[in-house]
Amino acid sequence: MISFILNLFLLEDDVATWSIDIDRESCIGSGVCLVYAPNTFVHDDDAKAVVVDGATDDLESVQNAVQGCPTRALRLIVEEEV
Ligand code: SF4
Repeated sequence: MISFILNLFLLEDDVATWSIDIDRESCIGSGVCLVYAPNTFVHDDDAKAVVVDGATDDLESVQNAVQGCPTRALRLIVEEEV
């Protein structure tokens, strides 16, 4: 399991810090998360999902990516609202 920290826009001016856990054992490299949130997820050399530095997708896109993962390899956790 690896975790990534990212800031996502909640509403117009509200930002929260989130973390995304990726269970590499469960990731089958389907690419669904890359379709829903292409500015957040990429595949590494092992075709496993990782989060890019400076991810720019909005919260809804990332939530759709998490919900669309066929193996439930992604978990989105709010860390702090600012
Ligand atoms: S949608 Fe899930 S299984 Fe597919 S690449 Fe992303 S994390 Fe891996």
